[in-house]
Amino acid sequence: MRTVAVLGATGSIGGSTLDVIARHPERFRASVLTANHRVEALVELCVRHRPDLAIVADPAHERELARRLADAGVRCDVASGPDALVAAAAGNLCDTVVAAIVGAAGLESTLAAAQAGKRLLLANKESIVMAGPLLLQAVERGGGVLVPVDSEHNALFQCLPGGRPALARSGVRRLILTASGGPFRGRSRAELAHVTPDQACKHPNWVMGRKISVDSATLMNKGLEVIEAHHLFAAPVEAIEVVVHPQSLIHSMVDYVDGSVLAQLGNPDMRTAIAHALAWPERVESGVTPLDLAACAPLQFEAPDLATFRCLALAFQALRAGGDAPTVLSAANEVAVEAFLAGTLAFLSIADVVEAVLAELPAQPVVDIPTLLERDRAAREAARRVLRRAC
Ligand code: NAD
Ligand code: MG
Repeated sequence: MRTVAVLGATGSIGGSTLDVIARHPERFRASVLTANHRVEALVELCVRHRPDLAIVADPAHERELARRLADAGVRCDVASGPDALVAAAAGNLCDTVVAAIVGAAGLESTLAAAQAGKRLLLANKESIVMAGPLLLQAVERGGGVLVPVDSEHNALFQCLPGGRPALARSGVRRLILTASGGPFRGRSRAELAHVTPDQACKHPNWVMGRKISVDSATLMNKGLEVIEAHHLFAAPVEAIEVVVHPQSLIHSMVDYVDGSVLAQLGNPDMRTAIAHALAWPERVESGVTPLDLAACAPLQFEAPDLATFRCLALAFQALRAGGDAPTVLSAANEVAVEAFLAGTLAFLSIADVVEAVLAELPAQPVVDIPTLLERDRAAREAARRVLRRAC
């Protein structure tokens, strides 16, 4: 029996994870559930999944959580605050941690799970973008295993021999990341000037949290994924290519030197990647509708439009700059996306904010986590200054 801590249980990935877990009560048990502040949603999940521990990140909500759980007849421990998240990720209530918190807020608990040697199911891409080499070092030292949940990286993991090999020795020429192109594929910059948060969050193929939905609309999501692939698979930037594939049926591909291209296909439903990562190296049923290729529209492919969707170009720029530039990129992007979602920043200006912050904070070598956290803070401050000037 695997005991699973679902960090970010009330989110989109959290919900899909719990759906897969509930299909296999003999194999998996959700032992820790966490939320940021949505106590009611967390209590509902606790009623259904009966964890040993429920955590609300915001300490102001701990008493309410305890009261509501008691009212609902759920007997489990209750905790709050970022330290409780870290302790649970490393503690003995779980052997598996699903890192499904959004943004840099997920870094410390993800790291704690890695250090403690858990099976780490990584959805929280911002943590590997921020701290790639340090996170992978922690996985290695902890003696656990990292299985990517991000659909593209899960696809690559499935198409590569032995999961995370040295690419050159495996005869790999390129990793080809597919991108849906998001809700604004094919639009010009003029057409994007006045798009709203709700339009940006209306993804054609996936239902996701609002931050990653905006990232998908700007293509920053693909940029973060390029950086994620670089770290996870030790792939040089020149060996990573992005191709737009609007149907989202091919989740990514590996191009080998002999001309073979291996692809992983499936309906766009995160439960496939989650089930794979939970059960790997075995396979379990996920609840995803089987792919009916004859009924699918023709599969299309096109090059990304880097002039319109500048965030993808900026991510490549940050990866080439190296050091902590990806940390700065991701932090500035989080602040800009928040401002866009709050209605105080135009869609196209998200890239302007990120570009300005990258220019203000040139790349420095990655030293340790405290230094990275300090850079994250500095990048957020710089982004807020840029926002104040822009608004
Ligand atoms: P979401 O917004 O739906 O859920 C986020 C979860 O994190 C919620 O449970 C929320 O309570 C929690 N949370 C938010 N801020 C927090 C904080 N400060 N402290 C503690 N908990 C906090 O997001 P999502 O779409 O589920 O995405 C989660 C992560 O997975 C992101 O990093 C995203 O990039 C990645 N991801 C998501 C998908 C997808 O299909 N949704 C696919 C690939 C990768
Ligand atoms: Mg993805």
